[in-house]
Amino acid sequence: MVKLKFIIDEPYLLADAVLIDPYFTIKNREDFMYLRNISDIIRIEREYFFSYKSKISYKIFKSLEQKLKGALKDDGKLQRFYQKILEETQDYKREITAEWSSNYLRSVRMMENITRLEWDDNKEFEVYLIHPSSAIARYLGSNRIVVGMDKEKNNDYTIILWHELMHSKFHLYDSSFSNDISHSIIILVTENELRSRLNGGNYPPFFDSDQDLSIIMKKILPYWRVYLKSERDNILEFERKMQCRMKEFLIGVK
Ligand SMILES: [Zn+2]
Repeated sequence: MVKLKFIIDEPYLLADAVLIDPYFTIKNREDFMYLRNISDIIRIEREYFFSYKSKISYKIFKSLEQKLKGALKDDGKLQRFYQKILEETQDYKREITAEWSSNYLRSVRMMENITRLEWDDNKEFEVYLIHPSSAIARYLGSNRIVVGMDKEKNNDYTIILWHELMHSKFHLYDSSFSNDISHSIIILVTENELRSRLNGGNYPPFFDSDQDLSIIMKKILPYWRVYLKSERDNILEFERKMQCRMKEFLIGVK
């Protein structure tokens, strides 16, 4: 079983709330810039902490956290705003937990079938939840994921989580030019193949996530069809082959 531990980390949520805050919540422009700067650092430091459990900058982090909490105490409007963010994130946690557990058994079978990898290996992942309007889903490395993304279609939470779990299999922490092929394969596996197995329907047109990788997916598609039928390689072998074969396609894509 892939065990997901859903966590609301309040300092991180608070920092993120300030960053997504519409301008009118915080009293004046100066305060706004000040709080944003603190929040920006807290968010980055917190992610670093989630991933590496590093305590190098822990002291600095704690003092920034205190400043942010202090600002929250002094500003009733900001406090109400944060309270609302917290409650909505708690609802989000309930929804995402319920969808993940009700879909787990059938979706893990589908993922084992698509990727030919072992998923039922009792690995535990920490999933840090932030407000869904943040529109963020990222794999931080070290079995830690950040998700704050709203649902548009059926089973979207399940698909987003499997997308980030695929990042862990590919050891893919961020999307850069050299990772476009791997990322396109992740999107083919989750946003496209898994989605069509869960919800029905077909592709192309591709369901793309945040980037426009449809051009690469289109190039990979013929090999992808063969991969799905042949049941010879697993997804890691397929990815390696595509990395070699697709190099020429990247020229002129970006
Ligand atoms: Zn991704």
